[in-house]
Amino acid sequence: MKNILDDAFEKKYAVPQFNMNGLIWLESILKTAEKCKAPVIIGTTDKIVDQLGGFKLLAQIFEIMKKDLKIKVPAILHLDHGQTVERCFEAVDAGYDSVMYDGSKLSIEENVKNTKKVVEYAHKQGVTVEAEVGSVGGTEDGVYSDMIYADQSECMKLAIETGIDSLAPALGSVHGKYKGEPNLGFEEMARLRQSLHVPFVLHGASGISNADLQKAISYGHAKVNYNTELNIGWSDALRTVLTENQELYAPMEILKPGKQALNAVIEEVIIRTGAYEKA
Ligand SMILES: [Zn+2]
Repeated sequence: MKNILDDAFEKKYAVPQFNMNGLIWLESILKTAEKCKAPVIIGTTDKIVDQLGGFKLLAQIFEIMKKDLKIKVPAILHLDHGQTVERCFEAVDAGYDSVMYDGSKLSIEENVKNTKKVVEYAHKQGVTVEAEVGSVGGTEDGVYSDMIYADQSECMKLAIETGIDSLAPALGSVHGKYKGEPNLGFEEMARLRQSLHVPFVLHGASGISNADLQKAISYGHAKVNYNTELNIGWSDALRTVLTENQELYAPMEILKPGKQALNAVIEEVIIRTGAYEKA
């Protein structure tokens, strides 16, 4: 993970993280990344891990699928929004490549203290760590947050005192669908970039214009997270096939358009983030 993020950070593109909501997502993400010769990150939100069978099962399925599909591009399994230090440890023990510890709802002192524990544990196993300051607004997998802009001195404190590999400074992005136009804090982003060298992570990238995305990447966002955009494409396709074919009941026929929709969104995002042929 560290190598692919550092490469993106240096060459000013971003590695997309696509969240998986089932095996169909995982298959689509891996196959499309391979087709596009792009490095890719597969995110599992803490909330969805248990619904999908737990850390161990997910880590094993990930390895098996990579092998069976002969995936040669770097593909990373990442815990998204790890809710506790223990959950991050569990992911590391199960074989995850990367974890995010989300202490953004805690005081900065608590956030630093816990993030440090995760970094110490994860780095020993060669697992990278992402942390968050401020709060990405909106709802994801049942977790709601108000949007709070990241404070510059808190970002510096967290990044410098913990030794994290990437930082998610919440600067106006939102999980789920945006209400109105996204309003990213580019001035704050520029200021933060001047004082910190760590790669940034943009959460809630679905719905952000291409111009804003390119600007965020130019300020060192080397990882960009997509979930909603994939799920809109998938659910629209599913709705259409079921509405147009009222008699249809064969699962594979029903699922096929959704898979194709996922592939199309993933390929488009890989081009948009500049990750195309970067593997
Ligand atoms: Zn997020």
